[in-house]
Amino acid sequence: MSDCIFCQIVAKKLPAHIIYEDDKSLAFLDINPNTPGHALLIPKEHYQDLFETPDENLSLWLSTAKKLAKGIKQGVRAEGINLAMNNGRVAGQIIDHAHLHIIPRFPNDNLKHWPAIKTNNEELSAIKNTIIEALKN
Ligand code: AMP
Ligand code: ZN
Repeated sequence: MSDCIFCQIVAKKLPAHIIYEDDKSLAFLDINPNTPGHALLIPKEHYQDLFETPDENLSLWLSTAKKLAKGIKQGVRAEGINLAMNNGRVAGQIIDHAHLHIIPRFPNDNLKHWPAIKTNNEELSAIKNTIIEALKN
């Protein structure tokens, strides 16, 4: 995809602070980091999001993420790591090339977790049933 920023980074047509590369994946520092060391792990092939990424790529992707998370944690002396993936505009996805955010966490780094919504047993039960039904497809 010639107009995709991340494909251009893979092709080395755009600069990036690359921290890792292998046959299938590339990882580089996010230019707008949430914390120091915030990196993005992407498949070299262009897939739009999680749903387009073939299953056979995903297990390798996660083990690569684990290796990188360990290196990043040590490298920037973080105390924890968040892995996050935005899929779809409503979920905050801006770049339509699948990517996993690897975000090192530090004490008092001021990142807030998403707030919880109010619910009740009846609603949880109804939602559970619709999801179980959908998983049958
Ligand atoms: P998302 O909102 O999940 O699509 O995240 C896209 C991320 O890509 C954002 O955190 C951006 O800061 C980051 N980003 C956009 N362009 C670049 C770039 N050229 N190099 C590194 N990171 C980028
Ligand atoms: Zn792309």
